[in-house]
Amino acid sequence: MFDVAIIGLGCAGYTAAVYTARYKLSTLLVGLEEGGMGNTAAEVGNWPGEIEIKGPDLMEKFKKHALSFGDTVTYKIDRVSFLDYARNDTQMNARNDTGEARGFQLTLEGGETYEAKTIIIATGSSKRHLGIPGEEEFSGKGVTYCATCDAFFYRGKDVAVIGGGDSAVEGAAIAAQVARKVYLVHRRDQFRAEPYWVDRVKAKENVTFVLGHQTVEVLGTSKVTGIKLDTPFQGSDTLTVDGVFIEIGSDPEVRLPLQLGCALDDRGFLKVDNTMQTSVPGVYGAGDVTSASNHFAQFTTAAGEATVAANSVFQYVQTLASS
Ligand code: NAP
Repeated sequence: MFDVAIIGLGCAGYTAAVYTARYKLSTLLVGLEEGGMGNTAAEVGNWPGEIEIKGPDLMEKFKKHALSFGDTVTYKIDRVSFLDYARNDTQMNARNDTGEARGFQLTLEGGETYEAKTIIIATGSSKRHLGIPGEEEFSGKGVTYCATCDAFFYRGKDVAVIGGGDSAVEGAAIAAQVARKVYLVHRRDQFRAEPYWVDRVKAKENVTFVLGHQTVEVLGTSKVTGIKLDTPFQGSDTLTVDGVFIEIGSDPEVRLPLQLGCALDDRGFLKVDNTMQTSVPGVYGAGDVTSASNHFAQFTTAAGEATVAANSVFQYVQTLASS
């Protein structure tokens, strides 16, 4: 039985593993997508110590660090399909009459099963969809959910980026480097994004701000040809584009903690206390999946939450050993 299983291979998961390894806790680090959402950042300028670094390069450094502790960290690239309470609790001095501290069992999609005394959920989030006609139909045929990842396929073409947060505005700035024309379509006239990115986009001559408009349909034949707006912009309710980047935020990946009965907050994020423990003793959360850090999803907040979670796991495992 591992001391801890960390689920998720993004910033939070790798950071947690660095700490649990240094606490000499036997660690299972498992997940499907190496680098997680961090890989989608074209340009990271707010990770202290790196004035500017590409997201995938930063995540590669995190991974290398997490895997630098020899046998202490067991690394598995697979989807965790099921989380449950462990059947056999004898190795843990368990207190399972009260439902506490009995350890957990992970079943991977590949069929392997593992047990761990504690869990850190670092499963991040997945991109939200608009749910409008044409969106599903043209997904992968001009509709994508990561402007910074896919902009380079639209060199010399016209694209629309939908949203007003960091993902959309950063995405528009990156797309503007290669596309002929970029429409930044946002439902309000104010942005959530960092003013740094808004200023970068305003400085681009090939970006047109389409503010106060909702996108109601993705248009196309065999691939995207445009989007339809709820009200006319400059005399037309249609924008002619080759690509649509939908960047309207993300929803937390809470499938696994729900299988253990962990509580969520009123916005559907994993509820944690200030030790990063969920409502289930022995289960912790870190990163974009949690309600901590006021739902602010940054590398720095994810790493901070993971640090606290790992320290809490260390204390919890010590308590188990002495009980
Ligand atoms: P976000 O901050 O939640 O912003 C989502 C945007 O999409 C908002 O502007 C929202 O409009 C709009 N939106 C939501 N639902 C919509 C709908 N149904 N129709 C039209 N528009 C809709 O999401 P995000 O930009 O993906 O960022 C998520 C988190 O990651 C944030 O904490 C962000 O700071 C972080 N992040 C950071 C960086 C960075 O630091 N470089 C980069 C990317 C993301 P309203 O404004 O009207 O609500």
